[in-house]
Amino acid sequence: MNKTAVITGASRGIGAAIAKRLAADGYHLALCCRRNQKQLCELAETLQREYHVQIRCFAGDVADYSFVEQMIAQTLAEFGQIDVLVNNAGISYIGLLTDMSIEDWNRIVATNLTSVFSACRLAVPAMVARKQGTIINISSVWGSTGASCEVAYSACKGGINAFTRALGKELAPSSIQVNAIACGIIDTDMNRCFEEAETQALIDEIPAGRMGTPNEVAELVHTLCGSHPYLTGQVITLDGGWI
Ligand code: NDP
Repeated sequence: MNKTAVITGASRGIGAAIAKRLAADGYHLALCCRRNQKQLCELAETLQREYHVQIRCFAGDVADYSFVEQMIAQTLAEFGQIDVLVNNAGISYIGLLTDMSIEDWNRIVATNLTSVFSACRLAVPAMVARKQGTIINISSVWGSTGASCEVAYSACKGGINAFTRALGKELAPSSIQVNAIACGIIDTDMNRCFEEAETQALIDEIPAGRMGTPNEVAELVHTLCGSHPYLTGQVITLDGGWI
């Protein structure tokens, strides 16, 4: 029987690469995005054709608890189980803390951190019932080190790291693994806001001499899916030796 994975933010970037990797391994998928629904549907059609898996797409805002509730409920109704939950959807915010409005703070926290609570809160009961499941949260090195002009984003990712360690402990007795991948700079749309010189300056600091690729993150997600039952509550850094 095929396993089922839920991946948030799968229309592009890291989420799309994770969807491809897990589909190639025979997972049925529930994917979501907020705006690029057409792109998500095209990805789903390609993966269904190539790998003969079933894929259900959802469009909505992971910051909205009722949207996540609907996505998890429909996934369980259609596929019967959730084996893997990847909390990947996220947005950046670059600017001085003193220029940030309370509305922007709330939006960043709701999208990047509360969404992780919502998806876990809603998916975990079915995992506990089966005493089986893997949760992978996509975090950032900024969650460990903090980044100037990315205070809210850093706070969310630091929150994800603590959330991962705590939930890992809480769910270990139920044989559910909870881990996070703290990415360095990965070559996606999220970094297109930087000028070429700024990107190069960042790359110059990375011992590996390049950005990571979405496929490299996806490969690590795949490795963490099920094959390491004793590995839980960990924040694994994937950054080319940067931090
Ligand atoms: P992208 O901007 O390329 O893709 C973001 C994805 O998240 C899209 O599918 C987007 O959907 C979706 N998304 C954004 N906001 C929402 C929302 N409110 N509700 C539902 N879906 C949403 O980002 P990356 O692939 O680079 O980032 C993926 C994750 O990796 C994020 O959590 C990010 O913080 C983390 N990360 C990325 C790094 C990098 O260097 N790229 C470094 C460290 C961490 P849509 O297309 O519809 O907008």
